[in-house]
Amino acid sequence: MTLIFIDHKFQYELERLFRNFFPPMELKLSTDRADAQGDFCLTEKSEFSGGVNLSVELVCDGKRYSMNRTLPAETPDKEQEREMSVLLYKALREYTGHDLPWGILTGVRPVKVLSKLTDEQALQSLLVSQRKLAVARRIEQVQKPLVESIPANSFSLYVSIPFCPTRCSYCSFVSHSVDHAAARLEEYLAKMTEEMKQLATISRHLGLIPDTIYFGGGTPTVLSVEQLKRLFAALEYFDLSHIREFTVEAGRPDTITAEKLLAIKQAGAGRVSVNPQTMNDSVLKAIGRAHTSEQTEQAFLTAREVGFDVINMDLIAGLPTDDFDSFAASLDTVCGLSPENITVHSLALKRAARLFHEGAGSAVGETERMIDYAHKKLAECGYIPYYLYRQKNTADNQENTGYARPGTESLYNTYIMEELQTILAVGAGASTKLVDRATGRIQRITNHKYPYEYLDRFNDILENKRQIFSFFV
Ligand code: SF4
Repeated sequence: MTLIFIDHKFQYELERLFRNFFPPMELKLSTDRADAQGDFCLTEKSEFSGGVNLSVELVCDGKRYSMNRTLPAETPDKEQEREMSVLLYKALREYTGHDLPWGILTGVRPVKVLSKLTDEQALQSLLVSQRKLAVARRIEQVQKPLVESIPANSFSLYVSIPFCPTRCSYCSFVSHSVDHAAARLEEYLAKMTEEMKQLATISRHLGLIPDTIYFGGGTPTVLSVEQLKRLFAALEYFDLSHIREFTVEAGRPDTITAEKLLAIKQAGAGRVSVNPQTMNDSVLKAIGRAHTSEQTEQAFLTAREVGFDVINMDLIAGLPTDDFDSFAASLDTVCGLSPENITVHSLALKRAARLFHEGAGSAVGETERMIDYAHKKLAECGYIPYYLYRQKNTADNQENTGYARPGTESLYNTYIMEELQTILAVGAGASTKLVDRATGRIQRITNHKYPYEYLDRFNDILENKRQIFSFFV
């Protein structure tokens, strides 16, 4: 299939929308009308005196679908782009015979986008389904008091540990096998400590106060007890007297021990994540996770004994070899354990994932059913949705949703998703996000992606962080 763009700049948005209908399809992109041969989709903008004409012509499997729309000349570019997206959507809907749950919305943060629109605009202009709009509206309501509680001049601290015991087949994160990285792991921890010290100095200087802390990965518990303690000690560079939430994403159950959980608790963390992804052992094997559901349950019970206030558990809908019944059984088992938070992801197949190249073989088509089941079941069990985000190439165009028992919603997850608070981030691949809530201005400073780059170009990292001064002063 060739997607052709003639005389407009809406390529990025149209390509993303197209891929939402056909995630695994090989797509050739072109700006040459001569490529309109075989299966193609030609999108074109033409201007005439007093107006612009937008058109979409889709030719696929010998069938042809044509849509066009004329707009006044003064129509803003953004609105033209939306109109073109609607035309493409309608052509693809006619061809495939199905709608997308999020309509023409393609971005990561649909709740944020929809919060600025009326229901009618969301349904009519963006073609969002009633069901997804209802979830977005519910989340907006839940987030309201959390948003209002953000202290002035506060920030969240993110610490990136991009190492895992082995790589899961669906993983597209910048995570590295800890064995592979072992030679430079100590150096990495030392540099990260230095970066934390620099950020602590900058934040004190600017009068910024740490509000939440999040150790994410990768798998932070891949570190030894001694290494974890050393990193936690570096937090003392910051003023920790106003911390409202401290999370450590323990993640893979095969790395979790009582000693590590105790060290995490003693450092002041009140929230940990123990991530099963599925409670079906054969699916775990198929996705390359070297642990069993029994280990997950044991890790959860140990975390309970250690006494964390909030335990989160992640599940993924649409995993290879999984099916609806197995997913529902996993969710029921996790609900039975009664963690305070449950996060339900939809499988996202990105190029960086091994699975993308091996062919997913996943339960695509069933994912929507799984997500709907999760929403219903979790409501019955007393959980409410409190944050939501989308990724590219997700099975059945579904989303990732964090659920919580009321009063246990993660502040960090809410603030990062809705871009409401500055995040100062340390470690390889970590992204600092500076947020000016008064003006809505946002600036990102991203650290080098790979640990070896982070180490070899560490001075760049420190230098880049100086931009924090110019943003706030
Ligand atoms: S545990 Fe998470 S970050 Fe690590 S390889 Fe698996 S999916 Fe990737």
